[in-house]
Amino acid sequence: MRPLNKKILSQFHRIQDIIDNNDRFLISTHINPDGDAISSVLVFYALLQYKKKTVQICIQDVVPEKFNFLSGVEAIQKAEEMDDLFNPEALVILDSADLNRLGCVKDRIKKNHLVINIDHHASNQRFGNVNVVDDSESSAVEIVYQLTRYMKMPTTPEVATLVYTGIICDTGSFRFPNTSERSLEVCAEMVKSGAVPEYIAEKIYYRMSRQTIKGLASALATVEFHYEGRVCCMYLSYEILKEAEPVDTEGFVDYLMAVDETEVEFFMLEKSPGCFRVSLRSKNTLDVNGVARKFGGGGHVRAAGCTINGNVEEVKFRLLVELGVYLDGK
Ligand code: 5GP
Ligand code: MN
Repeated sequence: MRPLNKKILSQFHRIQDIIDNNDRFLISTHINPDGDAISSVLVFYALLQYKKKTVQICIQDVVPEKFNFLSGVEAIQKAEEMDDLFNPEALVILDSADLNRLGCVKDRIKKNHLVINIDHHASNQRFGNVNVVDDSESSAVEIVYQLTRYMKMPTTPEVATLVYTGIICDTGSFRFPNTSERSLEVCAEMVKSGAVPEYIAEKIYYRMSRQTIKGLASALATVEFHYEGRVCCMYLSYEILKEAEPVDTEGFVDYLMAVDETEVEFFMLEKSPGCFRVSLRSKNTLDVNGVARKFGGGGHVRAAGCTINGNVEEVKFRLLVELGVYLDGK
């Protein structure tokens, strides 16, 4: 295990104290959970089980099917299925920059709850009683993994698979700038502990449903270029999304990043009529977190998101105007 800095060590110490002195825990993460969110939740779940605690996991939205191979995933409840009688003493919030990211799970937080906040977003609001926020980490799961080592939990092949999955999801399989020497080292450790890269890649990347690939085709058919090709965008309408089988849109925006010479890419997903979830990506220094924040969202410099209401032309126009300011400012 690599040496931890003093500040993180003292926060880990406080978390250990909370775990040792309480029994009932609720774990949650952000809406539209991605691989890092789900993995960090499940590694924390494994840690609390190891410590023989009573634990429930509650997330507003469903876990995408491709993550069903992960150990412990069956314990994740949707907020609406949550047991109202469960009265946790402490809440563990992972991979979420602010409490609004929890969606309706936010309403379950009471004043007397102890809140543990572990995240790797620079924009994190430090809403917890204990906050471990380290934006130099590739992923939230990398921090949770360090905590499991600190608390001397053995890394089983199941846990190794979770950690490896979270890291490859958040680094885009080691393509994004958050891919560090450390994250590669942790992945090597995970392989040593029983994670099988080929198996995990097969589960995550080669399991697209028919409805999802049709959804991708519909989205790609809307691709447009703006500002002399510096910006590339596309959308998926609610008409397509509302069909019986779910479309898993995670990673759709990455297809735009493959286009040569674009600097910024965004994907608009009409989650409900007239309400778009926007995913923004930047290939260079242009700060899409700043753009997303203008619309009440956030994220990282190179990957951010927000929600905007309107018809697709209005939403696109508002984003392009905002991006224009940033492109001019370069
Ligand atoms: P994605 O486009 O993959 O949904 O999100 C990209 C990044 O931006 C992720 O790190 C995600 O956590 C963050 N993000 C997405 N939407 C929001 C939002 O509405 N608010 C905040 N604060 N962060 C967001
Ligand atoms: Mn993350």
